[in-house]
Amino acid sequence: MASRKLEDLHPVTREKAKAFLQRAKEIGIEVLIYCTYRSPEEQEVLYAQGRLEQVGWTLEELNRRRLKLGLWKLTEKEARRKVTNARAWQSFHQYGLAFDCVPLAGGKPDWDNFEAYEKLGEIAREVGLEWAGNWERFRELPHFQDIETFQKIVRRGK
Ligand SMILES: [Zn+2]
Repeated sequence: MASRKLEDLHPVTREKAKAFLQRAKEIGIEVLIYCTYRSPEEQEVLYAQGRLEQVGWTLEELNRRRLKLGLWKLTEKEARRKVTNARAWQSFHQYGLAFDCVPLAGGKPDWDNFEAYEKLGEIAREVGLEWAGNWERFRELPHFQDIETFQKIVRRGK
């Protein structure tokens, strides 16, 4: 199971996440961050969802791997739905540079609150994060990532 701890984020991204939560609170949006770091093994299992034939796994194989990672079993219908376009090491979650969050209404996740997500998208821009709710291809409302820090790391690595 992926981490939801802010401590598992890159230190720079962690500070941005804190500022993000603070500003959201200031405008009256309570937010739950439910995923920060995600292992490459778990990413690969998510990638396989909706692509079992392509990766050559049966539903049983997918569920065996999911249970090992602390994830619940999927039905055949659920297993047909794509949830990500990123393979292992292709997601910012494997580098502690992304988090997924959901606005809360009365303490419960409010997944379809597009209005709240739009506001969170604005806050993200202010604190230097990118919101996947703006993406043309495979829009992901809950996903926020720190492309600035990613680019700094890549430049330093050269
Ligand atoms: Zn994400």
